[in-house]
Amino acid sequence: QAKFNGGNQYQFFTNDLNDTIAKKMMLETGLRRAVEHEELEVFYQPKVEIERNEVTSFEALIRWNYPELGLVSPADFIPLAEETGLIIPIGEWMMEASCRQFQEWLDAGAELDRISVNISAVQFRQRDFPEVVERVLAKTGLAPRHLEIELTESLVQNTALAIPVMHRLKQMGVKLSLDDFGTGYSSLSYLKEFPLDTLKIDRSFIQTIHQSSKDQAVVDMIIHMALKLDLNVIAEGVETEEQLEYLASTPCQHYQGYLCSPPVPRQQIAERFLGKQWKLSVEEN
Ligand code: C2E
Ligand code: MG
Ligand code: MG
Ligand code: MG
Repeated sequence: QAKFNGGNQYQFFTNDLNDTIAKKMMLETGLRRAVEHEELEVFYQPKVEIERNEVTSFEALIRWNYPELGLVSPADFIPLAEETGLIIPIGEWMMEASCRQFQEWLDAGAELDRISVNISAVQFRQRDFPEVVERVLAKTGLAPRHLEIELTESLVQNTALAIPVMHRLKQMGVKLSLDDFGTGYSSLSYLKEFPLDTLKIDRSFIQTIHQSSKDQAVVDMIIHMALKLDLNVIAEGVETEEQLEYLASTPCQHYQGYLCSPPVPRQQIAERFLGKQWKLSVEEN
């Protein structure tokens, strides 16, 4: 299309393209360095049990602390990491770091339920993925029941391969959660085939839940279906009291969102959610 718009436009187009490629190469070089130089960091976001207003679980979310740029969002580098295969070492590092941290909190006496780690479809499809999980659990000493793996609906594209891996993980005792539910190729038939523990309602349905009766209908439907299928259900992206109030009127058990806390570094989790006793023992280190 660009060439019908005259020379200048075309020039713009090629410049843009070069720019994109240059940026991408810079990011890729940076990302390789990040893996080697430990510029990657784990942030944690609490999951709140609605009825008791209690936090016993966290989602681990990756952050890239790029020396020149500051924190780079995963939305900006996960796709590139997937394209370059760097997601494999990054994903394993991420799982190990968050399992180790969670075990540390447990060892310190915190009464916690689970740590959730996001796994890219690229990583999940690796033949040795279950062994990677086993290795991480063995290395960190975390009991499998404390680890939950968050998968997205993109896995649906190859259910024949995904389902046996899911069963293998379940047999190990690891929990499985379906992230961003309702956004992808939501087919209801795979929901009964996937051996899931948790369904996460995508943030897009929660945003206007206090205003839109259509969103309410969709969310109510997801919640009731999840409960009938014996799944836990958690609402993502709760930002306001009104949204929480609506959820509290439903049987949805958990929420995640800025209303409680954005993802934060581990020190803040310790200070805000794990109590004084734990904080003291950390300060001695
Ligand atoms: P996700 O797994 O669905 O994570 C939820 C995202 O929503 C996070 O963005 C979180 O910061 C954000 N969020 C949480 N509460 C709220 C809220 O109340 N309002 C709004 N507006 N946003 C909220 P983040 O950390 O930027 O991560 C984006 C996505 O990147 C994640 O979506 C996940 O798909 C991916 N990701 C993050 N960490 C990893 C990782 O370690 N491995 C892989 N493979 N993907 C990751
Ligand atoms: Mg997630
Ligand atoms: Mg999500
Ligand atoms: Mg999401």
